[in-house]
Amino acid sequence: MSSTAYDPNNIFAKILRGEIPSHRVYEDESVVAFMDVMPQGTGHTLVVPKAPSRNLLDAEPAALGQLAIAVQKLARAVKAAFVADGVTVLQFNEPASGQTVYHLHVHVIPRFEGVPLKPHTGDMEKPDVLAANADKIRAVLKG
Ligand code: 5GP
Repeated sequence: MSSTAYDPNNIFAKILRGEIPSHRVYEDESVVAFMDVMPQGTGHTLVVPKAPSRNLLDAEPAALGQLAIAVQKLARAVKAAFVADGVTVLQFNEPASGQTVYHLHVHVIPRFEGVPLKPHTGDMEKPDVLAANADKIRAVLKG
């Protein structure tokens, strides 16, 4: 397990507290989901548990069931919203793995045949594009 402490001022903690804006698409008692600002593909969404943990390694096992259920809900929603062929689910733990934000989160990325993922930390997407994509996901979740 990592010996590095959880930092309550990490960027996702600030987003969860509403101190920094995000394009939220889903929230329940344990989880928030919002658009990734540097998407690796159209509709790249992050699913973030409200409970503080640095990553999977220090997370409370009891919180993981609800997270997995939310990841499935968002995977189904993004696949439908973008009429995707598949969905990639990614999660990184510590810098050696590629983690850059130290609050547990799961990447949910719609995939299209023949379209590779963009780099993990690439270009910022335009806010209006993120807003439009978030609208599509919310519409599917609303039913
Ligand atoms: P990690 O490498 O930690 O698994 O991924 C962190 C993700 O957070 C990256 O995909 C990055 O684009 C995204 N990200 C970084 N800063 C922000 C931010 O301020 N807002 C949002 N919505 N996403 C962010």
